[in-house]
Amino acid sequence: PKEINVLGINFTNINNKELISQLKIDSHNHSNRFIVTANPEIVLYARDNPKYLSIIESADYTIADGIGIIKGAKILNTPLPERVTGFDTLLSLLTFANENKKSIYFLGAKSETLDKAIKKIKNDYPNLEIAGYHDGYFTDDSDIVTEIKHNKPDFVFVALGFPKQEFFISKYHNLSPSIWMGVGGSFDVLAG
Ligand code: UDP
Repeated sequence: PKEINVLGINFTNINNKELISQLKIDSHNHSNRFIVTANPEIVLYARDNPKYLSIIESADYTIADGIGIIKGAKILNTPLPERVTGFDTLLSLLTFANENKKSIYFLGAKSETLDKAIKKIKNDYPNLEIAGYHDGYFTDDSDIVTEIKHNKPDFVFVALGFPKQEFFISKYHNLSPSIWMGVGGSFDVLAG
């Protein structure tokens, strides 16, 4: 449930544990889901960009990925439980996917970075299925979208940075009953 409004964004009132259990249920049900991990930069950008704001408002979960958002909510007397980072959520979902042989499509980052991240994921999470991957520097979406539509991965992680990743997910997420999440620079972190 989206309940807590901070600086014009409705955040989902949920902690890390609840989010992951909810996403496990969503995944088992093959529900289509769009997760936005909103940090302060995203909040400020959305305030000046109505189109981006409406995309964020359309997300199923808008999680507060920044201590400033948590502090703001507290000052406004509508506290959010805790900071929920996109990266921690990604790691929890990789673990879940590994334990349940779920499939994942990885989109984004530079080609060399993505290759390194995929290598690390194959090593650390050997039982998850890689439904495909593509670097984030493309001019034509169609091959990527066709592959996702065809493979119907359980999860689609999109690392194109904001606002690109949210525009991409918003445009295409109805094509596959997957859990779609923008993960910013997470593949760079995984690549080390
Ligand atoms: N990126 C991409 N395609 C683009 C622009 C960015 O794949 O057209 C990738 C970039 O290589 C990096 C990530 O998106 O891996 C952006 O990371 P950043 O930390 O800037 O994202 P933010 O956390 O600000 O959303």
